[in-house]
Amino acid sequence: MNAQAQTSILAELRDDGHGGLLYRGSRFLLIRPETLMGAQRAVEEALGPGVGECFAAGGRVGGARATAAVAGEARERLDRLVKMGRELGWGEFGVESWSPVRLVITVRHSPFAEAYGQSQGPVCHLIRGVLEAFAEQLLGRRRQVLETMCAATGGASCRFEARA
Ligand SMILES: [Zn+2]
Repeated sequence: MNAQAQTSILAELRDDGHGGLLYRGSRFLLIRPETLMGAQRAVEEALGPGVGECFAAGGRVGGARATAAVAGEARERLDRLVKMGRELGWGEFGVESWSPVRLVITVRHSPFAEAYGQSQGPVCHLIRGVLEAFAEQLLGRRRQVLETMCAATGGASCRFEARA
């Protein structure tokens, strides 16, 4: 795939001249995955593994804004959001399953899993939260999303499943 040949988020990113990067009026931030995962690890050590829900909450906030900004039919919106995820460097998103009651997304090369390193449990809580926002708006109901496989635990990729 030639990413240069089509309009991408990166092609539309604008430097506002005051330390801000804007995409269609929304501010974005480039950050090393190690920075985010360093914070996640430190908060886990201080407060315990339940803090994954706090990172998922952050993902939901950003994911809700992203989903609201994309118009069209539900599947069309999902495809555009999945493409955005890839363009933003959040990994190689794929739709494994899509129906009014089921959403399964796979992510290869999750930057979060790669930066985190080996883990006993899944670590991609930011992606999970984003996908909860997708599921809520596209399926019309709040769904819990589980990361059923994570590269940080030895999986070939990360896999997320929204359940009713
Ligand atoms: Zn993962």
